[in-house]
Amino acid sequence: MKKPTAQPIDVTKTRSEFYDEQKWCEQCQQYVKFLMSVNHSYCVHCGNRVRLFSRNDSAQFQDHVQRHKWQAS
Ligand SMILES: [Zn+2]
Repeated sequence: MKKPTAQPIDVTKTRSEFYDEQKWCEQCQQYVKFLMSVNHSYCVHCGNRVRLFSRNDSAQFQDHVQRHKWQAS
């Protein structure tokens, strides 16, 4: 498995590969801009895998989804 390396990224050139939203980087401990690949997203700062939510946010999101499911059914 290839490991992405952190590189300076020219946002104007690779604009189509970026989204405006940010994802949580465990390595940087903050929400960061990220680079999309086929299966995963990577932090533009450190090249680490990023997630849509931090652990806390994820828990809250799951909770929200659960409740929403109950309401929908
Ligand atoms: Zn990072």
